[in-house]
Amino acid sequence: MANITTFADKGADLELVGIQKRFPGFTAIENLDLTIPAGSFFALLGPSGCGKTTTLRLVAGLEDPTEGRILLGGKDVTDLKPFKRPVNTVFQSYALFPHMTILENVAFGLRRRKIGDPVAKAQDALRLVELDHVQDRKPAQLSGGQQQRVALARAVVNRPALLLLDEPLGALDLKLRRQMQQELKAIQQEVGLTFLHVTHDQEEAMTMADTVAVMNKGRIEQMGAPEELYELPKTVFVANFLGQSNLFSVKVAGSTDQVIHTDLGGSRISVPRSRSERDAGEITVGVRPEKLRLHRQQPAGHDASINVLGPGVITDVSFIGVSTQYTVESSVYGSVQVFAQNVEAGPAAALGDTVWLSWLVEHTFGLLDDRLDTGALTTEFSTRAIATQAALAE
Ligand code: ATP
Repeated sequence: MANITTFADKGADLELVGIQKRFPGFTAIENLDLTIPAGSFFALLGPSGCGKTTTLRLVAGLEDPTEGRILLGGKDVTDLKPFKRPVNTVFQSYALFPHMTILENVAFGLRRRKIGDPVAKAQDALRLVELDHVQDRKPAQLSGGQQQRVALARAVVNRPALLLLDEPLGALDLKLRRQMQQELKAIQQEVGLTFLHVTHDQEEAMTMADTVAVMNKGRIEQMGAPEELYELPKTVFVANFLGQSNLFSVKVAGSTDQVIHTDLGGSRISVPRSRSERDAGEITVGVRPEKLRLHRQQPAGHDASINVLGPGVITDVSFIGVSTQYTVESSVYGSVQVFAQNVEAGPAAALGDTVWLSWLVEHTFGLLDDRLDTGALTTEFSTRAIATQAALAE
């Protein structure tokens, strides 16, 4: 990325305090408290309808909270009109002005607010997204990804304290989306602004954000660094929404200071105490599919650092290039997913094979939920209201 210092202004802390949003007959946000530190890249991740966009619209001033306050840089902005807030939004649809050049598109807001040097500032912003060489073209002469970068330059040039990104890459094809994810992250680090990114794409959230908040039904289920959420989910919802998990309902059979031992149909499954939310009764434990190993024979004399399950039968084998995904079925523990990296020549196991499973105890996690009820997870795209763009314009 180009080295631009013009945009070095730090973003502001965003604080949502006791936010509730009720629509007639429906509560979209329930008592949300959230602090997003200045300069961070924060992702709100969740399925369609969980309240992400509503949260973003509250911050932008497009909706009024039923209860609660919104603070930016310590200043209460709850009652400010959208255009009075130091906030810019980048949407999935770029909405560039088709008749203007790229440079004019980026300079437009500055001119309107009578900010000095609009052209030089717009050129700086275009350099930042590496599009200064196309400044004289019209939007139709750019690719989708380039147009999205122009939309980003147009938002960043205003130096908002906070940049809101509403599924900004949703319209791009997969390859371009991956490339733009890296570029967006680099730009955010470059300008040091606070980014609040809303998405239902877990890979996108994990790739870009420093902190991810997983939202479900108007509440934040869990918040943390991407690795932390992935390696140590605390609820069934997070374990399933962020990647895939094998979850088992087990009964606690004993414990030490370090480890909780559970029983799963006669097999001992242990979970480190520090990785379990619960330590008594019926609990739910889990392990990620890539942590599992397949064995053609029962592993003999394994030590206490390993959990072993078996036997089960391979009922599905999907070769997906870097790995092969196996489904193992057992009448005792149900259906288990195993992702095996293709490092050996030939498949690790074939359809119909009887296999045993093992994984390190330290990869097991214990959830808050006392029963397995995943609910329906929908991840369809939402349509973004173009009207929102109009409301944001001065
Ligand atoms: P998506 O990814 O599909 O956009 P989302 O997580 O952004 O989903 P929101 O748009 O925030 O979800 O909507 C949260 C809930 O609030 C949904 O059930 C939605 O139907 C409801 N909702 C949103 N706006 C209104 C409204 N103006 N009136 C009534 N209900 C609304």
